[in-house]
Amino acid sequence: MTAEPRRVSVLGATGSIGSSALDLLARAPEAFAVEALTAHSRVDALAAAAKRIRPAVAVIGRADLYAPLKEALAGTGIAAAAGKEALIEAASRPVDWAIGGIVGAAGLEPTLAAARHAKVLALANKECLVCAGEIFKAEVARCGTALIPVDSEHSAIFQALAGEAAACVERIILTASGGPFSMLTRAEMADVSPRQAVRHPKWSMGAKISVDSATMMNKGLEVIEAFHLFATPEERIEVVIHPQSVIHSMVEFCDGAVLAQMGAPDMRTPIAVSLAWPARMKTPVRRLDFATLGALTFAPPDTEKFPCLALARQALRSGGAFPTLLNAANEVAVQAFLRREIGFLDIPEVVEAVLGGPGVAPPRTLEDVLAVDALARQAAVLAIRGLGRTAVAQRAVNRTGNI
Ligand code: NDP
Ligand code: MG
Repeated sequence: MTAEPRRVSVLGATGSIGSSALDLLARAPEAFAVEALTAHSRVDALAAAAKRIRPAVAVIGRADLYAPLKEALAGTGIAAAAGKEALIEAASRPVDWAIGGIVGAAGLEPTLAAARHAKVLALANKECLVCAGEIFKAEVARCGTALIPVDSEHSAIFQALAGEAAACVERIILTASGGPFSMLTRAEMADVSPRQAVRHPKWSMGAKISVDSATMMNKGLEVIEAFHLFATPEERIEVVIHPQSVIHSMVEFCDGAVLAQMGAPDMRTPIAVSLAWPARMKTPVRRLDFATLGALTFAPPDTEKFPCLALARQALRSGGAFPTLLNAANEVAVQAFLRREIGFLDIPEVVEAVLGGPGVAPPRTLEDVLAVDALARQAAVLAIRGLGRTAVAQRAVNRTGNI
């Protein structure tokens, strides 16, 4: 007798996380029945994925793209839908496993819908936890959903904590590659281009998280993510630079033992951990060859060179609306940098300006979070205008020939 296929949905199916998840699903078609695939604007990529994976429904977030999606899926038997409501409807379909692979706070409502209706939510979208941690966790607990982290560091910690008593955990140690600019001086970083920033030395990822890795805001967001996922105070979450990206993170226990999880830097491993949990499944991920691996090195992070990490820690310590403000301001600043409206070093400036703005009441509901998020975005746009940088950034681009 064969087991029933597990029903799964992939939110953010056209992205880097989504593609890795689809790769795993496509390798075991008999084991999975795909309910929904979603994307935001890349109709061609979504339609191609849908034709390959055969979900019940494919949803494009932009309502104006319904017609091309419908046309691309004509005759396939796959339903097409578009718009925010359709996205949330698709995310609300009951499934065994859903992966939250949408980028940014835009993923909050659909991911929350999946948290309410999936048995297992594999969470890649760290911004959900950063901007609405308490609300998100309360919904997950209320619905009895299994929340399994997909972020590689948090997947490593999740694995190291299996079967351990929370009271015995002394420290969580998040590893960071250091990003593409770890060897540059601040003066050299002033002129880096978006193309240089998205070229991560170890991981292949979407543009936003790649820039976050380059500023080290990614590690700051991950400290906040770990605080929520593992109920560990900020001062017991350490960050260490580990350029080889072999150890994905570590947990230190009260007896001095440290458990580290290792593997090649390939997101299919942490996705597979969540997909097969509590069992394990085979993946084609490259195996580590310890005999040729060479040295594994570690160093403290330089928060003067990378102020975003300190800003995120400060926002977490301050609590209330600050993590929501931090996340939204960072998203706006990163997009402005990618559009070459501001320089790389302006990203922390914008975030700091928004965090230092007028006080905002702590968000208590989802609506509060969305309101704080919107407010922070307006403040970030004003901060960017205040920098008056467009011309400066453009000159830097022209001078260096960077694009
Ligand atoms: P990508 O930019 O590669 O993909 C983002 C996905 O979200 C795409 O499917 C995109 O659709 C969709 N999307 C974008 N904006 C919206 C929106 N407004 N509404 C609905 N859907 C939207 O991102 P990544 O895959 O790199 O990252 C996804 C999340 O996972 C992020 O939160 C990131 O921090 C986290 N993560 C990623 C890792 C990685 O290795 N990539 C590692 C650890 C965490 P479209 O293609 O149509 O624009
Ligand atoms: Mg990570």
